[in-house]
Parts: sequence; C-alpha cells; structure tokens
Amino acid sequence: MKKLLQEFKTFIARGYVLDMAVGVVIASSFTAIVNAAVSGLVTPIIGLFLPNAESFAEWAPGGFAVGAFINAVIVFFITAIVIFAVMKVVNKAREAKKKPEAPAAPTTKTCPYCLSDDVKLGAVKCPHCGSDLPEE
Ligand SMILES: [Zn+2]
Repeated sequence: MKKLLQEFKTFIARGYVLDMAVGVVIASSFTAIVNAAVSGLVTPIIGLFLPNAESFAEWAPGGFAVGAFINAVIVFFITAIVIFAVMKVVNKAREAKKKPEAPAAPTTKTCPYCLSDDVKLGAVKCPHCGSDLPEE
C-alpha cells in the first residue's frame, strides 16, 4: 500500500496529471466549439437538401435519430483532424528541441610532443615546449 502511494506521488509529481487535466479541459471546450459550428453551420446546409424542412439535428426518420448521429460523426472527424494537426505540430517542435546542437568546430589542437591540448590551430611551434609542429 505504501509503495502504491509512493508511485502515485511520483506520478503526480511528474506533471502528467496536470498535462492531462489541461488537455481534457481544452478538448472538452474545443469539442463544444466544433459541436456548435457543426450543428449551427454545417448540418443546416445539409438540411437544405432534405425533402422536409425540419431541422437536420432533429431529423429522425422512423424514430431513428439519424440527424443527431451524422452531426456527432461530423464533429468527431473535425475534432480528430484538428487534434492530428496539432499533434503533428507539437511532435515537430519536440523533435526540433531534441536535436543536439552541432559541436563547435575545434579551434585548438594537441601538441604531439608535450600533449598540451590548447595549441591554436595553424600554429607551427608549440607555445609550451617550443617543438616544431607538423603542418596539418
Ligand atoms: Zn608541445
């Protein structure tokens, strides 16, 4: 039991819970926006092509709520597409962050005689031991 508590504490401390909470809140309000846009703008346009003039969301031929179902399907697809696009952008940003910076080009070399490693590139004499250095 103590171990479980400890694991739970670590889990919360990692920040996943906060990320998840933020995600859930954003997703639910985003779904509300998409829902309003679809049932307010998209399905009424489809409703224009229906033979009877009743509102599309309430279209229920034979008692089956077909209109509401199609509404939900359209909301799902729009939400999925937007989330997919957001994930793509986030993943790209993460990958760019992960890439290690190219190591700086070396400006010094090692003297083969005294092994001092702070001899400037292009030097022909070692500043430490005075040896003639081979040209590189
Ligand atoms: Zn040297």
